[in-house]
Amino acid sequence: MEQPISVTRSNFNDWMVPVFAPANFIPVRGEGSRIWDQENKEYIDFAGGIAVNALGHAHPVAVNALTEQATKLWHVGNGYTNEPVLRLAKQLTENTFADKVFFCNSGAEANEAALKLARKVGLDSGVAGKSGIVAFNNAFHGRTLFTVSAGGQPKYSQDFAPLPNGISHVAYNDLEAAKAVINEQTCAVIVEPIQGEGGVIPADIEFLKGLRALCDEFGALLIFDEVQTGVGRTGSLYAYMNYGVTPDVLTTAKALGGGFPVGAMLTTDKFAPHFSVGTHGTTYGGNPLASAVAGAVFEFINTPEVLEGVKHRHQYFLDALNTLNAEYQVFDEIRGQGLLIGCVLKAEYAGKAKDITTWAGEEGLLALIAGPNVVRFTPSLIIPEQDIDEGIARLKRALAKLAK
Ligand SMILES: *Cc1c(COP(=O)(O)O)cnc(C)c1O
Repeated sequence: MEQPISVTRSNFNDWMVPVFAPANFIPVRGEGSRIWDQENKEYIDFAGGIAVNALGHAHPVAVNALTEQATKLWHVGNGYTNEPVLRLAKQLTENTFADKVFFCNSGAEANEAALKLARKVGLDSGVAGKSGIVAFNNAFHGRTLFTVSAGGQPKYSQDFAPLPNGISHVAYNDLEAAKAVINEQTCAVIVEPIQGEGGVIPADIEFLKGLRALCDEFGALLIFDEVQTGVGRTGSLYAYMNYGVTPDVLTTAKALGGGFPVGAMLTTDKFAPHFSVGTHGTTYGGNPLASAVAGAVFEFINTPEVLEGVKHRHQYFLDALNTLNAEYQVFDEIRGQGLLIGCVLKAEYAGKAKDITTWAGEEGLLALIAGPNVVRFTPSLIIPEQDIDEGIARLKRALAKLAK
């Protein structure tokens, strides 16, 4: 057999558009919550591919679903439906508030579909100018022009003006501020039940309840962006279930495919018919390969054992992090739900989150940041306790470097 082309980390700088700054090693293999790089150095994975690898790496359930489907049918295009996508749609609608699903390939696309649906519902309402979208500061909804404009971090959107207009931003968890901008011209409110990229900030229950009431009052769609919080991440299938607040539209991606790219927009029979044949679409959405993997991953996660396991691991993680923090005193607050955990750095260590993840890498641990001051962990939902212990031991060595 021919040797594969030899590549190194420095080739990234040679050949890749420089929108990322990846770590200085290249992962080549993964199993469970461990990864190995080109030098065969082992890492504990507390990053989970940014809340994606819900079953860790190379889980037999996902591998079997993928390889079985790979020998049958990969793609047919949307002129035909397929069995895996219909099964996945049944699973998603039977286990959530939703009646209808639109499939796509990423979180951004799911949110793009949600925002376009809201604009269409607003148009169909007959209320003049019902196109306003209310979103929140520091929110993250993806990188297409519409979703990056809905996101609340101007540094990601300002270079691409002119931006889609009609989007207002107010402070997250500030119901009075939201009340001031939601009116008859509002077609949608889009919100993350826990802001992920923005720093792992859970919504207050009264805030989400208040948004629900305002959307009902003014006939606006309540869109929950559950791209990061969905599919078991918080210990419930979706975070809205923890809050007891039901949206009109929910977007899901990341963990949905367990590592295979897939996204979906969920909605109800009331709103789905505002989209008709030709109003929206995508070539790969609902592709049999992606749907087969997502169906198997979803079935595995949506059991009391796995979901309870996430809650148990949350506590286990928190206990370990608190013990570590008692010794090193680097975090002000440790927050989040389930296995979406954010550690907020004390003021004296402001801006050091990236350094901590770099040092963690040196010690053999993959970890994430959520802004400059928050270290974030989104491991596999089934990470073994001994891997948590080992990862915490490696984190401890990274924190020791910080404390020095
Ligand atoms: C990651 C993320 C997105 C974007 O998903 P992509 O698959 O990267 O397009 C959108 N919303 C939230 C809350 C996310 O965490």
